[in-house]
Amino acid sequence: MDWFSYINGELMAERLSVSAIAEQFDTPLYLYSKAGLQAGLEAYQQPLKHYPHLICYAVKANSNLAVLNVLAKLGAGFDIVSVGELERVLAAGGDPARVVFSGVGKQMHEIKRGLEVGIRCFNVESETELERIQVCAEQMGKKAPISLRVNPDVDAQTHPYISTGLKENKFGIDIIEAEAVYKKALTMANIHIIGVGCHIGSQLTTREPFIDALDRLLALTDNLKALGITLEHVDIGGGLGVRYHTETPPSPESYLSAVIEKLKGRDLTLIIEPGRSIAAPAGLLLTRVELIKKNDHKAFAVVDAGMNDQLRPSMYGAWHDITAVSLNGSESAPVVYDVVGPICETGDFLGKERSLQIKEGDLLALRCVGAYGFVMSSNYNTRNRAAEVMVDGEQVYEVRRRETIAEQLAPESLLPTS
Ligand SMILES: *Cc1c(COP(=O)(O)O)cnc(C)c1O
Repeated sequence: MDWFSYINGELMAERLSVSAIAEQFDTPLYLYSKAGLQAGLEAYQQPLKHYPHLICYAVKANSNLAVLNVLAKLGAGFDIVSVGELERVLAAGGDPARVVFSGVGKQMHEIKRGLEVGIRCFNVESETELERIQVCAEQMGKKAPISLRVNPDVDAQTHPYISTGLKENKFGIDIIEAEAVYKKALTMANIHIIGVGCHIGSQLTTREPFIDALDRLLALTDNLKALGITLEHVDIGGGLGVRYHTETPPSPESYLSAVIEKLKGRDLTLIIEPGRSIAAPAGLLLTRVELIKKNDHKAFAVVDAGMNDQLRPSMYGAWHDITAVSLNGSESAPVVYDVVGPICETGDFLGKERSLQIKEGDLLALRCVGAYGFVMSSNYNTRNRAAEVMVDGEQVYEVRRRETIAEQLAPESLLPTS
């Protein structure tokens, strides 16, 4: 991650001082590196250079328009899960013909919009959804391109909240039943079958579950061929993990080489939907130490970012490295702190038992928060959502300004007086 490194004890974002950026834009602040995002996407593009493919970045990981625009310009497609995300992709200059639409609860108006702009494919998650798409396409006099998202029943061996490919999860069509649903789709006048896919979970740290799932998809593909249904693509979803702490996930290159090996000799385009592995390493959350609070048992660093800004530690017990932005000017010995936010919840922490050399007013950086960071933020405790900036070489751009209290209050109203 050479886009974030220390020079003379000062954390740099590409060629800029992180402290100076925090001074300029205030904290809490999400900071993204354009070079980091590019490297994230290129790590997938390079190994696939000689294989027909489409990389559909999972918009939900980080949907800032500038982030989407950087990726769109490099040729990325997009995996969306709502019409809102579709509008973001369009506003960011993304190509609708490179969009796949996932999600278990697509509404009629969302399907309609997808057909209107000509997305590449609907990833269908149930038979009833298939019927809904048929109705919508018929009304519009169109043919809807579809792929079934099957549930291959493999254990992704990740956190239960982000495991999606087991029988008990809500996602996808049971792989045993998929053949019957394809047969049904074949009889529908406004449905065009083009593929099959799955997404088995997130933050996977080994290749095996992906390859098991792919094997099952390919067996299904063979069975379908025997029925006269020839697919154009196989979509293996996203889910490749990143190193937050001590994890050692395979590189995209290592993962994809195993995938390409399996696909050899088949006439199938590969679609993948990585989110976290592209965006997470490209982002920092900057926060300032407001107060240091000690009792007999513990020391707390109370910072100006909370669980409303960064939910992963309290929701998943996730680990993010926390480092001082400046390693200079702190002669004191390291102290073990719980780094906590100002929100009235015990679950409001960013990191527990972290050894830091800090004083009040110092800046801290949470690492690897470019994915599932800002997008999961809320206004809990009527806190304004953070600003977001993107660094490009020697320039920094505000890509979302800080919210104001007035904006938060604007949609609300009092009861009329009687
Ligand atoms: C969330 C999601 C992804 C992206 O997962 P990552 O772990 O961020 O790579 C891809 N596809 C679908 C259908 C998803 O729901």
